Parts: sequence; C-alpha cells; structure tokens
Amino acid sequence: MNKNIQAIRGMNDILPEEAKFWDFLESAVGGLFAGYGYGNMRLPVVEATQLFNRSIGEVTDIVEREMYTFPDRNGDSITLRPEATAGIVRAVIEHSLLHDGPKRIWTSGPMFRYERPQKGRYRQFHQIDVEALGFAGPDVDAEQIAMLARLWKQLGITDVELHINSIGDAEARAEHRVDLVKYFEAHLDQLDEDARRRLHSNPLRTLDSKNPRLQHLVEAAPKLIDYLDAAAREHFTALQALLHAAGIGFVVDPRLVRGFDYYNRTVFEWITTRLGSQGTIAGGGRYDGLIGQLGGKAAPACGFAMGVERIVLLMKEYQFVAPARSADAYIVYVGDGTAAQALRLAESLRDAGLIVLMHAGGGNFKTQMKKADSSGARFAIIIGPEELAAGEVSLKPLRAADAQVRIAPTRVAGIIQQSV
Ligand code: ATP
Ligand code: MG
Repeated sequence: MNKNIQAIRGMNDILPEEAKFWDFLESAVGGLFAGYGYGNMRLPVVEATQLFNRSIGEVTDIVEREMYTFPDRNGDSITLRPEATAGIVRAVIEHSLLHDGPKRIWTSGPMFRYERPQKGRYRQFHQIDVEALGFAGPDVDAEQIAMLARLWKQLGITDVELHINSIGDAEARAEHRVDLVKYFEAHLDQLDEDARRRLHSNPLRTLDSKNPRLQHLVEAAPKLIDYLDAAAREHFTALQALLHAAGIGFVVDPRLVRGFDYYNRTVFEWITTRLGSQGTIAGGGRYDGLIGQLGGKAAPACGFAMGVERIVLLMKEYQFVAPARSADAYIVYVGDGTAAQALRLAESLRDAGLIVLMHAGGGNFKTQMKKADSSGARFAIIIGPEELAAGEVSLKPLRAADAQVRIAPTRVAGIIQQSV
C-alpha cells in the first residue's frame, strides 16, 4: 500500500486559521515585553547534550527520557532543546553579555520533548521564554509576574491562578532532602518505580511527580518552605508584598517545586482549570546558581516560559477574536496588456500602505468579480480594455451601496483611504 508521508507524532502543523492566534499572541508579547525593557534574542534549536544534562539535571524526567538526543555526523552528541533557559545562559556566558550589567531578554520558538501526546502536550511545542539575568530580585520576580498578569488581561484570559512558592537555597534543600529521604523510606511500599530509583539521587523530583497514586504521599511530605533560611524567607516575603502592592492575587503553594534542578528561591506557575491536567500555561522561577554552574561569572537570574499551544487553546476557549484587517482592494483585470497595469497599480497602492489582493489565475470578468466579493475586500478595482484605453480604472465599492466610478489610477489610494 502506498501511504502518504505524515508529520511526526506529537508534532503539529499550525494551519492558517490557527496561525492567526499565534500571530496575535506573538505580536502582543513583543510589544508588551518591550514595555518592560525586555529585548528579543534568537538561539539555535540544537545544543550540545551536556548543556542540558548539566543544567536541567541528570535525574529529571526531561533528561532521563524526554530529550531528542542523537549523534551528529561527527559523532558528537547533540540534543533538540527541550527548553530555552539553558541555551540563553550558554549564550550569555559565551558572549559575555553581562559584562556591562544585567540584561532583560526574551526568546521564543519550538522545544522538543518525547512525551505522550495529548491535548496541550506535544513533542514539538512552542514556548515564549523570558529571562532577567544579573538581577537578585525580588523586584524582577514581581516584574515578570506582573508582565504575565497584564498579558492574560490583554488576551481576555480570566480563569487563571498564580501559584508561588520558595524552594530556598542549597543549604535549605540539603536539610530538607535528609528529611524527605527519611519520609520516603518510611513509605517505601507506596513509591512508584521512578520515585524508588530517585530516592537517593534526586528525591525532590518525586514531589513534582505526575503519578496520581503518589499525590497523597506528596501532600504529606516535608515542605521546603519550612526549611528556608532568613534571607530566602525575606526574599519571599518581599515578593508577596510587591504582588499585593501591584494588586496581583496569588496562592502560596508549598507543593510547587517544578521539574528542573536549577531553580532556587522563587518558583511560580500560572494555572487554569480549563485545560484539564495540562493547566499550567506559564511557569518559572529563580536560578541564581546556574550561570556560575555552567562556567560563567556567578550572577543571579530569574525567568519563566509559557506554552504557546496551551495559551492558544485558552484563547479559543474564551472565543477570543483577533482583530483582523481585511483587504482594502481586489484588482480585477481582463484583456491584453491589463496585467502589467494591474501589477503597477497594486504596487503603488501597497506603497500607500493598503492591503491589496491581486487576482491571479485568469478567468472572465464574472468569475473574477465573484472572487473579489468573497475575498472580503472593501473595493474592487477593475481594469478592462476600455479602462486601459482611457488610462483609467473603475472603482467599485463592495461593502457599500455607492456607485462605481471611473477615475485616474492616481486617485485610487486617496479615495480608498478616505472611505475607512
Ligand atoms: P507540565 O507540568 O505540564 O509538564 P512543565 O513543568 O514540564 O509542564 P515547563 O518545562 O516549566 O513545563 O515549561 C513551561 C511551559 O511550557 C508549561 O507551563 C507549558 O505551558 C508548556 N509546556 C511544557 N511541556 C509542554 C508540552 N509537552 N507540550 C505543550 N506545552 C508544554
Ligand atoms: Mg513536563
């Protein structure tokens, strides 16, 4: 049987109707982030595998079983990026971007994780990722959260809840870990395979387990927030005060730990109940140790990533309608020599900033007019043999009852612009 080639499982085509939401979201965030001083940056989608092993952590779901890792033709192990922070930090170190002070950066693009595809969870998915590097916070922590709150408002998303937690610094985590291991050891029979394997290598990850059978156990486990030292506690208190001041509601969620090893202190997620178990639309936190850990001059940092597919799903849930501009004119042309005239006119109208659809593919006057009508354009511009001979065009309003007029081509732009 001759089967057509299809897209790879879990990797989606974003068709034109769908892409409208993406375009809107992408242009909205560009403007929004600029308003907070964040500049765009673009990065490769493949990196050396070691980058992710060393940043995300060897004993995490992502590194253990979700990465697309393969040798290139040279035999070097490379990985399709599963997230953006590690690449940003690599680039920041490689180009000494912090030499003249802290930086606010954002990036976006496809990420790859070998997960079980379902609604809101794919193998190629897209993130918009924001990082403030060289800032100790909690002011930038609050700034990033405020930025997201503003974005939800712009997109008309209301059913979304901010969860925050502090997971402290290295010392607090070491103390917590001792108690956590003891606790899990006392409940060994209830642990799943992953949790058992990670019992001594990375017990914290079990707190982020998606296994429903473990939720009960995780609920009652020792909480990191009870282990914070004075400095981390102060940071967390200050963040909460800033959020209060900005009028941003939140829930302190002592269960929130997130799936990467590099986080410390502030972690946060924005969660909606409207997408089932794929309800986290954005998540982030501080990673004060990562830049130093990857070989850069130690500098604190905070960032977050949002899942574009999930946000688009939510925009649809809310029946968000992206403001769209329909074409200003559709050019219909019939007869020898009219094509060149039509193209010249179309280009000059575009010079004037108009959206112009030029008929393509031939056909008689009637079929072309039908196309003009169904295109949604406000005007049809008609160039036939008579118009050509007279050096004029016919301008026919398609959405108003006004009469068709014969005019010089140079007058067309002005009339269309005035008719808005
Ligand atoms: P989840 O808990 O849902 O697996 P995560 O904690 O693994 O999410 P992060 O790594 O923090 O997610 O990525 C940030 C955001 O990217 C998530 O909040 C989500 O919106 C989105 N995201 C993560 N994984 C996927 C995926 N496989 N498909 C679609 N979106 C994803
Ligand atoms: Mg995940």
